[in-house]
Amino acid sequence: MSIQTEVARRRTFAIISHPDAGKTTLTEKLLLFAGAIQIAGSVKARKASRHASSDWMEIEKQRGISVASSVMQMEYRDCVINLLDTPGHQDFSEDTYRVLTAVDAALMVIDAANGVEPQTIRLLQVCRARNTPIITFINKMDREVKEPLDLLAEIEEHIGMDAVPMSWPVGMGKAFEGVFDIARDKMRLFRPGQERRDDSKDDVIDGLDNPEIAKRFGDAFTSAKNDIELIQAASPVFDRAEFLAGRQTPVFFGSAINNFGVQEVLDALVEQAPPPGARTAMERQVNPEEPKFTGVVFKVQANMDPAHRDRVAFVRVSSGKFNRGMRLKVSRNGKEIRPNNVVSFLSQRRELVDEAYAGDVIGIPNHGILHLGDVLTEGESLHFTGLPFFAPELFQAVEVKDPLRIKQLRTGLAQLGEEGAIQVFRPIAAGGALLLGAVGQLQFEVVAHRLAAEYGCEARMMASRYSMARWITAEDPKELRKFIDANASHIAYDVVEAPAFLVTSGAQLRVAEERYPSIRFHAMREHG
Ligand code: GDP
Repeated sequence: MSIQTEVARRRTFAIISHPDAGKTTLTEKLLLFAGAIQIAGSVKARKASRHASSDWMEIEKQRGISVASSVMQMEYRDCVINLLDTPGHQDFSEDTYRVLTAVDAALMVIDAANGVEPQTIRLLQVCRARNTPIITFINKMDREVKEPLDLLAEIEEHIGMDAVPMSWPVGMGKAFEGVFDIARDKMRLFRPGQERRDDSKDDVIDGLDNPEIAKRFGDAFTSAKNDIELIQAASPVFDRAEFLAGRQTPVFFGSAINNFGVQEVLDALVEQAPPPGARTAMERQVNPEEPKFTGVVFKVQANMDPAHRDRVAFVRVSSGKFNRGMRLKVSRNGKEIRPNNVVSFLSQRRELVDEAYAGDVIGIPNHGILHLGDVLTEGESLHFTGLPFFAPELFQAVEVKDPLRIKQLRTGLAQLGEEGAIQVFRPIAAGGALLLGAVGQLQFEVVAHRLAAEYGCEARMMASRYSMARWITAEDPKELRKFIDANASHIAYDVVEAPAFLVTSGAQLRVAEERYPSIRFHAMREHG
């Protein structure tokens, strides 16, 4: 098959949701419906161990587990679907944000009883910033849940897109009767299902105006019919161009655990979600069909064995064709690598990859040569923009217990920083201890543990008074200099020497914003 054909049949997406909304269940059901697994349960089993406890052994285990389940590739209806896992624990959400830069679409799962929840909102912001098309699945309709119209309103309010229902639920909870497929004017009846895919034909009844349905389902149907008529009068119809531009989200109702509505979502992914598109590098636009290989490291994951310090760099292919054993150049430093044991993630098994195309993800084991944000090419020097780093919300000062081990501390922190496990800031104030910045508390524990286990360095973590950081820029470098000099005790540099302004409260930040209108304060920094 030509590169064009291979690219056109790729769909790369991630599921975004709040914990417990049903991401794991839906992932598994998508695999089931795509024929990648026969019986549901395998994804679940891994998750159970992930939640067991958070002691050190668990953290170690998690790192291994998440390598294995980071990317799931499946084939469905002539398409190759790459499902990128986003770490479930909220303390690893920084990683999640970066995974979202490697997808072409997102599937948002909402628990119908809870509506749009906080963690979903943060992930949505990342999607919004990139205009990533979003498909919405409203899960758990077999429970007593919020009114569907209210859910739609909530979605629109939070994501700032038009929510266009593709189906509409008839009843809910124990009285959940099924969904009405709006475009096809058919009702599909709900039947609970579990581990296996049921190939028997769905029960379908035609027509919103069919008196038979009205009689059979009574009030629930009348209410659904009223809602549908209301929506049809008031909201726009689904328009793929609007969806691709990130202005409309198609909404499906269902129950993942019962296999209900899963097929529709899978079909929407294949039919509506976009194939890999062009990516912008600083030098030029890179088109996925170009013959030469390019790719970006969007995630670096320490591997199971701490003694070997090996890591897996996850590379999203941006263009061309990857062949095992080909020579690749790292744009950051011009170094050449020739990865042989590159892994792909076909239907959850780690396998050696022979070829990969735009949209695919390959895992390259290495000992620290590859950093987050690195671009790999066949020789050209390229720098992609857009890998985000988020301003941390938690800070701790770090010191080494044994002063003779200061070098190990620096090496360890530099490497963990490159992996994106933590952000490291160097305050300019004399004698200031290094500051660690995180999005979640658990990141500090993981770092302390790994410094000891992998770098032989006992670190002492101390409370820090800071609670917020903003990267600072200004059009006029002189203004920036002035700001830095005037606020030296609050300035620190990160790993790429970008200056950040550290504050103890939001009020302090607002004061600075008012006093220095020429300075821009950024909650996000793009790698580049
Ligand atoms: P995750 O944390 O988002 O990965 O959520 P899980 O997939 O683990 O689901 C959380 C809980 O919700 C589990 O107990 C699931 O069995 C349950 N669940 C998932 N989908 C449904 C559904 O459609 N209906 C009901 N009643 N429960 C569901």
